[in-house]
Amino acid sequence: MQDARTSPAPLLGIDLGTTNSLVAVWRDGQAQLIPNALGDVLTPSVVSLDDDGSILVGAPARARLTTHPERTVGAFKRFMGSDKKLELGEQSFSPEELSALVLGALKADAEAFLGCPVSEAVISVPAYFSDEQRKRTSFAAELAGLNVQRLINEPTAAAMAYGLHEKKFERTLIFDLGGGTFDVTVLEYALPLIEVHASTGDNFLGGEDFTAALLQACLQDWQLKPSAVAPQTLASLADAIEQLKCKLSEGEQHLSCEVAGETRQWSLDEARALKIWAGLLARIRAPIEQALRDARVSPKDLDSLVLVGGATRMPAVQQMVATLFGRLPYRHLDPDTIVALGAATQAACKARDEAIEELILTDVCPYTLGISAARSEEVSGVFAPIIERNTVIPTSRVKRFSSTHAEQKMIRIEVYQGERPWVRDNIFIDAFDIELTPNGSIQSLDVRFSYDINGLLEVDVTLLDTGKQHSHSIDRSPTGLDQQARQASHARLAGLKIHPRDALPNRTLLARLERAWMQSLGDDRERIGSWLDDFSSALASQQPEQISRQRQRLSEALEQLRF
Ligand code: AMP
Repeated sequence: MQDARTSPAPLLGIDLGTTNSLVAVWRDGQAQLIPNALGDVLTPSVVSLDDDGSILVGAPARARLTTHPERTVGAFKRFMGSDKKLELGEQSFSPEELSALVLGALKADAEAFLGCPVSEAVISVPAYFSDEQRKRTSFAAELAGLNVQRLINEPTAAAMAYGLHEKKFERTLIFDLGGGTFDVTVLEYALPLIEVHASTGDNFLGGEDFTAALLQACLQDWQLKPSAVAPQTLASLADAIEQLKCKLSEGEQHLSCEVAGETRQWSLDEARALKIWAGLLARIRAPIEQALRDARVSPKDLDSLVLVGGATRMPAVQQMVATLFGRLPYRHLDPDTIVALGAATQAACKARDEAIEELILTDVCPYTLGISAARSEEVSGVFAPIIERNTVIPTSRVKRFSSTHAEQKMIRIEVYQGERPWVRDNIFIDAFDIELTPNGSIQSLDVRFSYDINGLLEVDVTLLDTGKQHSHSIDRSPTGLDQQARQASHARLAGLKIHPRDALPNRTLLARLERAWMQSLGDDRERIGSWLDDFSSALASQQPEQISRQRQRLSEALEQLRF
């Protein structure tokens, strides 16, 4: 416990992951992970609507993905920035509302651990997250009652933690493959300076895709279509395949699953997995090559190669990286926790902690930002870059444009992000109109893009003839996150009943027992059924000591059965 009266308000470092989220704090001169109500530092990024209508976050929700798939959602970070709604029973939520529930749980864990309220945080985001995805992440934090001091790119956060740990590194490539996103960052340490040279990635590639590919192959082998399998069975099979994937490094794995009254078997070894994943592994190459090209380095110029993110535990990924770079990657620090530790390190820099004050970080904008322009009367929709990818941030760049004809009364500025020559192939960010006063000639205008360290963009337009200026913050989302939508989200979350934190260990064990019962058969199922009875009776007794003893015993018993 920290004495809240003598210490400054703590600033949290949060890794809001696709699969798991973590919270850390800088204390006693180092970054420290904060355990959740179950004593774990990893909180599954899963939300479930319990049978009594309360919201469960983390491990109990994770267990219910299998038993109550229609009331539970995970991996919603994959939809951040989109219009998608996710169903929890009869209620529907946006990805940022669900992220807010995870952030709220982390905040509660931090407050319980530190013994004081916390409201400030540095939150990590994938380097390749778009403007919209960053804004939605900030909004999720706002919904959870957290003020974002900085959004830090995940590989950059990892680089900060490594920089403190390994002072001998110079030119480094950070390979970050998480549950849903992939980032590659090339950077250089000249401590106290950490300079990012290039960052690139794929926002739709991660460990979840490797699990989904295995699930698809398994169903194909069984000649079953996903739609022909009951949702609960499909969720249970996906869970079994996820576990099988994580154990593949131990050798060939087997699973059996009861589908439509028939017990089916499936086996997987590394060689078959490599074949199933060939397409996904190929997708990993392009961002690596681009990051190296943009940073103007070749693999042999790198002093070290660092793997970050849970999915880099896959031997297939490690082998591919080793072959590509002709060396073994460095992974002394835990790839699951490094980003949160780095975010807390950045938080300490923001809070000007004495132990760390001198660390200076420069980051880049990972994608090109520009506007739609016309090359001639006939050719329009050309992408005119203003900030090129991998420009050091914060940055402010200006480019001159002109009206297309003398009578023009309005110019529409359409902002895009991407690397393709035509705007139709890039990501639309925002659009706004600038009024012109026709004066019988073509008018010139300067368009200035200012991109800050959080990855947020502002556009200023100056009409050269009149000197008139227009300023435009890109805060109106193309998918409709306006003030009304924001207020509705605040109201929706305020109306939710969150499961009490101190009751979570019991609720988690019940959910795990239910899942284990569902996934087992025969003697095991009978044994787990009796454990469910034992634990229900212990809970009914309301004797804290008895409940705690039974919880300990049954948790260990479940682990022995590998549930
Ligand atoms: P992260 O977002 O960094 O927590 O990474 C989560 C991803 O890492 C998930 O897709 C997991 O399936 C994957 N993962 C974690 N541990 C392992 C493992 N031992 N083998 C393979 N994949 C793993």
